[in-house]
Parts: sequence; structure tokens; C-alpha cells
Amino acid sequence: MATRRQFLVGAGGGAAGLVVGAAAGALLVGDDDEARAEASATAQEQFMEAGGAADAGERVARLGTRRVIWNTTVTEPIAAITFDDGPTPEYTPRILDALATAGVTATFNVMGWNGVHHPDLLRQVVAAGHEIGNHTWDHRDLTTLDVHETRDELVRCKEEVEAVLGQPFTSFRPPRGELTGYALRVAAELGYDTYIWSVTRGPGDKESVTEIGDYMGQTVVAGDVLGLHDGIGQGTFDPTAAFARALAERRELEVRALPAALAQVADRGITLMSANALLSRSEPLPVGGTGPTPP
Ligand SMILES: [Zn+2]
Repeated sequence: MATRRQFLVGAGGGAAGLVVGAAAGALLVGDDDEARAEASATAQEQFMEAGGAADAGERVARLGTRRVIWNTTVTEPIAAITFDDGPTPEYTPRILDALATAGVTATFNVMGWNGVHHPDLLRQVVAAGHEIGNHTWDHRDLTTLDVHETRDELVRCKEEVEAVLGQPFTSFRPPRGELTGYALRVAAELGYDTYIWSVTRGPGDKESVTEIGDYMGQTVVAGDVLGLHDGIGQGTFDPTAAFARALAERRELEVRALPAALAQVADRGITLMSANALLSRSEPLPVGGTGPTPP
């Protein structure tokens, strides 16, 4: 009996395939070789017309090795600690002191504008052995930006901060965790894994230094990515606004709670480290599984 299975034909996979899909639409064809070859050739033509680069194949392969991480699976008691939005004179020096006292190395996700305006602090962060991540140029909400603005947010942060430090970022964190498909693609092109987080300083109703320190100290488990701050994001540009003052209050409590939190996590036998250090010591994702087999 003749079967006519149907195939969904794209040109290549990964992010470049998405571009093609948008330009060319998906093609439904029969399963005879001739129709498939024809559809494939048409899709390839449309891909090239849509701006597919000659090296697109290579680029797709590289993009596909990048990951989005909330937390990881580990076999040892380790977790990551990260600080976003700095560096700032208000918070970064005290955080560096607390980390040095605890013997902890962290990831600082740099807001480009702050890095360029506080280059000495930026250099201190790196000199202390901490890792740096790209946290965009000025902390805009990526979900409101077009593709050109999105690319500029990551690339400007990279270029201006690297000009100060002479060394590259190794990861990306989207402001407020508001990740878009295009931002993820740009991050992958720049060679970054993208980190979100799995634990914070705690709910907004925790308003005392002791409560916040206890929450962080007792909540972090092995494999977690703890997301904290050494700046106030967009509040940097409007520091007297109500939202900026509220953020500054939250940050102040968070920073003051940090030494106790670090001590409690250490007492529980968990070693904190940078995000990439955690990932490099985590279990690889399982291969295979019982999902549907592609045609
Ligand atoms: Zn942020």
C-alpha cells in the first residue's frame, strides 16, 4: 500500500532555520525523493535570498552548543553566586569584601554603562578573580526592543567593557530574566551561555537583614544559581524616582545580609562559586530519551 507521509521542510536547523521559516514559510511535501529534493533546493534558495550567509552551516553548529541555565544537576555540594547591575560604588566594594572574607568567587553580570563609569571598580572585580557576564549596556527590557536595539544592547556592553578590561565576557544574563529568542541568538553568536537563576534574596516581605540572610543561607541547595545585585538597573538613570529608591532599599538590605548568608551556606557544607565554574562541574544533560522520533 502506498503511503504518503508528510514532511515539514526547513532549511537547516537552529536559529538560522527560524529566519528561513519566517521568510519562506514551511513547505509540506510528499515523501518521494524528487519532491523532497526540489523543496529542499527551493528552501535553500529562499534562505540565501533572505540573507543566509555562506558560512551559515558552521554558525548554526556553533550556536547549537550554547545553553540556557537556571540551575544544574551536580554530584557534589556546589552552587553558583551571581551579582547583577554593577559595578557601583554603593554596593560593589562591600560585596567584594564579603566574598573575600568568605573565600568565595562569584560571577558579576556587568551593566555596561556602570562598568564604563566605574572602571576602577570593574578592574577590582576582575583582579579579585571573579568572573564577568554581559548584562546589556543599560538594562532595558529586551521584550520591548526590536532586533537592532537588542543586538546593540549586548554588543555595546561587550565592546565598551572589553575596551576597559581587555578581556571578554564569558556569559550573558538578560535584565530581570526577560529573555527573548533574538537576544538568545545574539548571546550564542557572541559565544555566551545564558544564565537565569533559581534562588533570589527572597520574597519582598522579607525586610530585615536577619530574615534575608537566613532565607539565602538556608534556601540555596546544590546546583542552584543564586541571583543577587550590586546595582539598581534602570534606577541608575533616575535615582530619585520612587521605584529606584525602593530598589536601593532592597539592595542595601541584601548587601548587609550577605556575610551572614555566605557563612550559613558554608556551614551547610555548600561551596559557592562562579556560574561557569558550577556549570563545568555539573552533570552533562542526558542524551536520547523517549520523545517522538523525527521523520
Ligand atoms: Zn539586572
